[in-house]
Amino acid sequence: MTVKIDGNLVAAAVRKEVAEGVQTFHNQTGQQVGLAVVLVGEDPASAVYVRMKEADCAEVGIRTFDTRLPADTAQDELLTLVDELNADARVHGILVQLPLPAHIDEEAVINRIAPSKDVDGFTASNLGRIMRGACGLRACTPLGVMRLLEHYGIDIEGKHAVVVGRSTIVGKPQSLLLLEKNATVTICHSRTADLPAVCRQADILVAAVGRAQLLGADCIKPGAVVIDVGINRSDSGLVGDVDYAVAEPIASAITPVPGGVGPMTRAMLIENTLQAAQDTQ
Ligand code: NDP
Repeated sequence: MTVKIDGNLVAAAVRKEVAEGVQTFHNQTGQQVGLAVVLVGEDPASAVYVRMKEADCAEVGIRTFDTRLPADTAQDELLTLVDELNADARVHGILVQLPLPAHIDEEAVINRIAPSKDVDGFTASNLGRIMRGACGLRACTPLGVMRLLEHYGIDIEGKHAVVVGRSTIVGKPQSLLLLEKNATVTICHSRTADLPAVCRQADILVAAVGRAQLLGADCIKPGAVVIDVGINRSDSGLVGDVDYAVAEPIASAITPVPGGVGPMTRAMLIENTLQAAQDTQ
C-alpha cells in the first residue's frame, strides 16, 4: 500500500521539539527567541503566509517583531530596517516576506540580512555553505523535504533522485541536500528533453515546478517516492505539480498537496530561528 507522507504530522512533531528548545533556551539565557517579520505591500497571499508563520511562532513561544511597510517603501528604507534588525540582539532571525514590490532589488535586500539571522536560508552566504557542505541556516523547503524523507525512513544513499525545477530557493538547494546524502541527482528544468523519461528513472522524484499536475502517470517509476513541492491554485482548490490521483497507486510513498511539504516549510522556519538563537551562545 502506498504511504501517504503526512507533513502536518511531522510538522507538529517539529513544533513540539522547537517549543521545548525555546523553553530551554529561555531557562539557560533568560532571553526569548525572537523572529523579525517584515512585510512590504498588501499582497493578500503574502499576508496570509505571514499570519501563519506568526501563529507558528506564538505556538512555540518565539517572540515576533512585526513590521508592515507600504508598497511604495524605498529600497534604502528597507535596507536600513534590515541593518537595524541585524544589530538588534533581541532578534535572532529575520524574515523578509517575498515577493517584494517590483521597484525593490530582492537580492540586495536578502543579502543584507546577516547570514547568522537568515532563517529562510536565502542569502548567497548560506546557499554557498550548502554548496560547500558546511553548516549554516538552510533553505526551509528543501530542508523540510529532507526531514520528511528522514522521518519516514526513506533511504537516500545510492538512490537516483530526480529534482524537477532549478530555482535558487527550492530546486538547486534540494539537489545539493540530496547529493549530500549520497543520492545520484538529476536536475530537470523547462528545457529538459523528454521530461517523463527522465522522471521515470527516479527512485525519489521531487517536483518543484509551479505547473498544476504537470507530472502524470508517465513520469512515475513503480515504487518511487514522490515529493510534491508545488502549490498551484486550480478550480478544485490547491493542487501540486504531480497528478496525485494517478501517481498515488504507482508510488510507494507520496506527499499530498496540501498537507505535505507546505507545513514542513513553516516548521523548518521556526527550527532555523531556534538554531540561530542557539548559535549566538
Ligand atoms: P520557480 O518558478 O522559481 O522555478 C520553477 C522551476 O520549474 C524552474 O527551474 C523552471 O525551469 C522549471 N519549470 C517550469 N516549467 C517547467 C516544465 N514545463 N518542465 C520542467 N520544468 C519546468 O518556482 P519555485 O522553485 O519558487 O517554486 C516551485 C513550486 O513550489 C511552486 O509551485 C511554488 O508555489 C512551490 N513552493 C512551495 C513551497 C512549499 O512550502 N510547499 C515553498 C516554495 C515554493 P527554468 O529554470 O528552465 O525556467
